[in-house]
Amino acid sequence: MSQVHRLPSPNINPENKAFWDAAEDNRFILKFCNSCKEPHYYPRTICPHCGSNDTTWVESKGLGEIYSYTVMRRGVEVPFAMAYVRLNEGISVLTHLTNCDFDAIRIGQKVKVVFEETQDGAKTHLFEPI
Ligand SMILES: [Zn+2]
Repeated sequence: MSQVHRLPSPNINPENKAFWDAAEDNRFILKFCNSCKEPHYYPRTICPHCGSNDTTWVESKGLGEIYSYTVMRRGVEVPFAMAYVRLNEGISVLTHLTNCDFDAIRIGQKVKVVFEETQDGAKTHLFEPI
């Protein structure tokens, strides 16, 4: 058996399909609102800031820093770390952390997006220290 935490599969629907299609190509994209000029995450058709449906996809470099995190060690098969990552675009993403020593994680640490396969083979985004 693998000693890697099994990532949950994405819940794909028409509103977020482009996001998961991009993940398959190791690309991280965000929704951007043409009315209020703000990006948002998770991907939605209707802007959560102003209610406009004039939103479009934009490429993100997937760079940011750890805003908050927790390491799950009890009651799980394999320990894993989750974090809120504050993207350089100014919005937060709830995500798994990977390729790091869980005891060395710190708030403010710079991270970048990476992609790994989930339980059913679809890729999802995680973040690793730079
Ligand atoms: Zn807006």
